[in-house]
Amino acid sequence: MKNFDNIHCMKKFFITILLMFMGTISYSSPYDSIYINPYNLQEIVANSYIRGVIAQGDVTRWNKNSFPLSVYVQTNGVPDYYVSAVKKAYMRWQSVTGGAVSFKFVSSPQNADMKCYFTSDFGNLSEDTVGYHQFKYMDDKIADSTIKFRLVDQNGKQFQNQVLYNVALHEIGHSLGLAGHSSKSGDLMYPVSKSRNYDFSKRDLTTLKLLYSMVPDNTDKPISASEKSKLLTKAQVVGGEERLKQDAQTAARINTNITPQDPSSRYRLAKAYQENKNYSQAIKEYKNVISMVDSTDLKVKLYAEITSCYISLKNYTAAQNCANYTYKKYPSRLSIVLLPTVQYAKGAKTDAVVRLCQIVAKDRDNEYAVTFLKQIYNQEKNNTKLKLSIIKALKEQNLI
Ligand SMILES: [Zn+2]
Repeated sequence: MKNFDNIHCMKKFFITILLMFMGTISYSSPYDSIYINPYNLQEIVANSYIRGVIAQGDVTRWNKNSFPLSVYVQTNGVPDYYVSAVKKAYMRWQSVTGGAVSFKFVSSPQNADMKCYFTSDFGNLSEDTVGYHQFKYMDDKIADSTIKFRLVDQNGKQFQNQVLYNVALHEIGHSLGLAGHSSKSGDLMYPVSKSRNYDFSKRDLTTLKLLYSMVPDNTDKPISASEKSKLLTKAQVVGGEERLKQDAQTAARINTNITPQDPSSRYRLAKAYQENKNYSQAIKEYKNVISMVDSTDLKVKLYAEITSCYISLKNYTAAQNCANYTYKKYPSRLSIVLLPTVQYAKGAKTDAVVRLCQIVAKDRDNEYAVTFLKQIYNQEKNNTKLKLSIIKALKEQNLI
């Protein structure tokens, strides 16, 4: 069994951490009929894993006018059959969708919409990960879409043709915007490849069709107003914000069951628990993530989330203990402001401000402390004494 990837969601992971989806099917339809007729929408949604895709964050997909997308596949230093397997996977996507998605191969990565590379360096990803896809964004625009394949397996051996082809099919799905995973092993976007006869399910194609019938949050080229008027909104497809939060929790729990040792899955589960106000479960999962990561910066951020959960539970003693423990074990600009955060939350506002002013007096570059003081200043409209001491502390350090 080969794990595919998990990195395509890392963007959200690192941004949110600081702030507090049988058988083969033929699918022949011209591109315009990709739009879903909303009269039986709920039935279509139920027969797809679009909830899992959207639960990962935004709706990301290409503008339909951008097809055929240009695809670069690295050839240097790569066995010919690797290149053929990847290109064959692209052509399979094109034929199975009746050309709804289409590709043209280019010989240079420059200006290519999609890029495929082969490398031995898979960073911190688990050894059985064969491929991963990553989008990069500039604001809401897709700036880069890259798939990386491992050059050789754990034993230094070249991959079989079929393995690479299977992984390519899956990763191309991600690069088309199927950001999440299916919980059903018969689907292409199930995160682990175990079948040699790996192919599209009806659910895969329904999910793709739904995705390309939706207004995207991130895309490569602006979508015209007339086009937008024909598209479905996120709310139409999956319901309101509360439902989205529940879906995020369900999707995260599924991913965590499939890849229990993956810290980014566990982190998303913790975050989903927190957003659904299941603070005790969130704390438990944050602790699991802490035990799985090496970076002390990351540990501090996770302890900050735990502190925040205790505050939400109004368990100020536990919050304070967590804040003190974190600062003592991992002194940093963030961990030092955890205690005043708890103090302020429990109403000891003067203590919090005094402590924050001391922090700023010693280290005017502590942006967490400075930002927090400014927030307090704006919030405490009637507490003149508190406001004056904040102004004094900030002025002394030339921060205002
Ligand atoms: Zn995947």
